[in-house]
Amino acid sequence: MDKEALRGLPSVDELLRADELNTAVSASSSALVAECARAVLDEIRSAIIPGNRGGAAREEIIALTVEKLAFLLKPSVRKVINASGTILHTNIGRAVLADEAAEAVALAASGNINLEIDLATGERGERDSLVEGLIKRLTGAQAAVVVNNNAAAVLLALNTLSEGREVIISRGELIEIGGSFRLPEIIRKSGCILKEVGATNRTHPKDYESAINGDTAIILKAHTSNYRIVGFTAEVGLKELSSIGKRHGIPVVEDLGSGSLVDLSVYGLPKEPTVRESIEEGADLVTFSGDKLLGGPQAGIIAGKKELIDKIRKNHLKRALRADKLTLAGLEATLRLYLNPERLGQKLPALRYMARPVSEIEKTAVEARRVLGKALGPDYSITIEDGETQIGGGSLPGRLLPTKALAIVSGSKGAQEIFTALLSGEPPILGRINRDRVILDMRTVDSAQDLAFRMK
Ligand SMILES: *Cc1c(COP(=O)(O)O)cnc(C)c1O
Repeated sequence: MDKEALRGLPSVDELLRADELNTAVSASSSALVAECARAVLDEIRSAIIPGNRGGAAREEIIALTVEKLAFLLKPSVRKVINASGTILHTNIGRAVLADEAAEAVALAASGNINLEIDLATGERGERDSLVEGLIKRLTGAQAAVVVNNNAAAVLLALNTLSEGREVIISRGELIEIGGSFRLPEIIRKSGCILKEVGATNRTHPKDYESAINGDTAIILKAHTSNYRIVGFTAEVGLKELSSIGKRHGIPVVEDLGSGSLVDLSVYGLPKEPTVRESIEEGADLVTFSGDKLLGGPQAGIIAGKKELIDKIRKNHLKRALRADKLTLAGLEATLRLYLNPERLGQKLPALRYMARPVSEIEKTAVEARRVLGKALGPDYSITIEDGETQIGGGSLPGRLLPTKALAIVSGSKGAQEIFTALLSGEPPILGRINRDRVILDMRTVDSAQDLAFRMK
């Protein structure tokens, strides 16, 4: 052990008198700077004791302290550039809000709003009424409630209508969605008894009919969001399920997952079932997400028959699952954009990305290749190639959109290393690895300048 080196280390008090650390104190607090200095000194001491290093200069200790403090003060929430090849990527927060929605969120965040008060009468209001009118208009439903996400929507609908009783669902629809949404578990957690019918690939009307008994409370249909069953298959359509439900007096609930509000084929995209169609085909309740194809903030919406929605509103679980004012503000502004269908495709980022022409994506790719090439330097080689974009968020499973992507390789680094370097730089860029290269999809990159990048 180098006793000289240990003895030579400055004290925390001494360090705090240094100019650099005085500046640091004015940006945080002396307690925080002292904590960082102490931690740096501890690290150096525990390296000196086993003989792993010699003494440390005052300048080095100060620099390490400033670095530690900067790390501590840096916000955890960072803007990430989505070049992942998935438009609605759950790990980076799914739908990007429209400007109008972001402004509404800021308004609700920076002041008080009429969340639960009727401005005309001063009487106590209902927070869902901020958006219920729009949802009714856009879906044809009689009523609607909003909760934290679609998982909560399914949980709340099932718990309200079916606690302690049976929920009938086809074996082909017992879905698991990324991020631990498993329908059989949600059914159990909502206090209901799962009654699966049919086979994985084929379920017939008689399977539902013969499962119905005095304990049946719900017939549940789930949109198989992230996979498709192909080949020798049969499923019972919503229309037929609804007539079975009606005949037996049992409500039919559909978990639509993404739940588009508009016919996407208008934008040249594959057709996805809309909420309005589900309501028209006779679903008593439909649940869907706010931040998937709808393009809004994270939320879960239950729309349908007023009598059932009224019951849901009275359930105490609703209080635990309700949406907050920021969500409701962002959701309202998003839904309002749907009142102008002509401009929706430009206003709503999710739709804009989906409908973006390949020729325009290619222009971004050409410019981005130059910008990123400059940032990364000569050790990297970047080529432009054809690629495919996934919609994501469990929407349009198996449907891919043609795109242009940057493919990156390096003389000295493997694909995994490049991937991590891009993600840990400034701004973080999320790509994906394919055949030993890092692929950056340009469809969701708004401007090539977003790739003006600094390596950490
Ligand atoms: C995405 C999805 C869910 C979960 O929705 P969240 O809003 O993520 O909670 C549930 N069911 C289906 C069919 C889905 O696609």
